[in-house]
Amino acid sequence: ALSDRLGRIVKTMRGQARITEDNVQDMLREVRMALLEADVALPVVRDFIARVKLKALGQEVVGSLTPGQVLVSVVQKELAATMGEVDADGKLKAGASEINLATQPPAVILMAGLQGAGKTTTSAKLARHLIEKRRKKVLTVSADIYRPAAIEQLKTVTAQAGAEWFPSSASDKPVEIALAALDYAKKHYFDVLILDTAGRLGIDEALMAEIAALHAAVNPIETLFVVDAMQGQDAVNTAKAFGAALPLTGIVLTKLDGDSRGGAALSVRAITGVPIKFAGTSEKLDGLEVFDAERHAGRVLGMGDIVALVEEVTKGIDVEAAQKLAGKLKSGDGFDLEDFLAQLGQMKKMGGLGGLIDKLPTQMMGGKAANVGQANMDRAERDMRRMEGIIRSMTPLERRKPELLKASRKRRIAAGAGVQVQEVNRLLNQFEQMQGMMKKMKGGGMMKMMRRMGG
Ligand code: GDP
Ligand code: MG
Repeated sequence: ALSDRLGRIVKTMRGQARITEDNVQDMLREVRMALLEADVALPVVRDFIARVKLKALGQEVVGSLTPGQVLVSVVQKELAATMGEVDADGKLKAGASEINLATQPPAVILMAGLQGAGKTTTSAKLARHLIEKRRKKVLTVSADIYRPAAIEQLKTVTAQAGAEWFPSSASDKPVEIALAALDYAKKHYFDVLILDTAGRLGIDEALMAEIAALHAAVNPIETLFVVDAMQGQDAVNTAKAFGAALPLTGIVLTKLDGDSRGGAALSVRAITGVPIKFAGTSEKLDGLEVFDAERHAGRVLGMGDIVALVEEVTKGIDVEAAQKLAGKLKSGDGFDLEDFLAQLGQMKKMGGLGGLIDKLPTQMMGGKAANVGQANMDRAERDMRRMEGIIRSMTPLERRKPELLKASRKRRIAAGAGVQVQEVNRLLNQFEQMQGMMKKMKGGGMMKMMRRMGG
């Protein structure tokens, strides 16, 4: 665990007076692991560590500080500088990331990102923010013609935000929808038009071409890439694809109320080069905060733990006790929907069900591999993608506590994923069965089973 690593750093660094080429190596190895555990992409981690090393070696360890503490502060400053906006002197700028509206109204804001990232929710959050904080007249419109439920979803949340919604329908073309809304916004003197778009579960050419066409048609002043903080390593590829297709102007990092370390922030910022403007902190419309790089740096490294550990250890309390105090070790061993989603992701990486079956020896399939049938396989893969879409439409809390899913939440999730409520129920049933299996295997059951199998 992270707290073990950091405890070890501080312990090994006790009583050393300087940061040297030798001892910095050990410390940086732990920082590197901490960043990887926070799901920061490897190339980004490498660059980052190189910069920290350069800076740390130049640092004097003064007064009662330990080299460990000095390094921690170098790391935190560098993290904040990497994720935030710095001025010419390398000092972190505060509040530099508001929405840019400096154009002839209506200022168009284009929302881009994968399905389930939080585009529709963030559209309404932004509308609310611009109305309340900047006294603007805001119109929203959805170009998500693939899921009629998504258009309705925008209508509902726009009303909650107190903004106006421009109607669109699944039979319209995205560019025509956008132009009609823009025309309406001009005629009715709106300050801002927020254009919500369709996402896919993965990056695909058609999606990129469509959103590039939308961009060309409405010439937005802000093109925001909305990304789920829980996406981890995958965020890198998504950011690359959207950054290549669109001239992005900012990032919104959603679902920071979940328990991910938010390492995606570092990767996405490094890859796109544009500022992280906002953070989504709940499914509610007031859950939008101006992104605070300094605070987020602490989160990525689990700096709360570090600071507590440094203090405890220097007071002479042993590392073990300090770890318990930090109490960050994931409690409980329950199998939740987040794990379920991770499993689906794992299967996808292995090339989907098709790839999986290819890898199994034919004997295991009873010599029947060829009989599985392409049609069945396609259906299974489609089901898998839908399941993923449903789980992605849940909030982090719901993924951890599926028992919260009562009728109204199920309806919201179904709308978000563009499926019927029955499908959400079916998924929950499957999940419960799997959870039941996991429970039976607990308490060494798994080990016993493997031993019996001659493992
Ligand atoms: P879209 O497919 O990109 O339009 O994503 P949605 O806006 O439909 O959001 C997908 C799911 O994530 C919904 O259930 C939202 O309520 C939820 N969601 C979006 N942003 C946040 C956030 O910042 N925190 C939490 N907890 N949930 C969020
Ligand atoms: Mg949407």
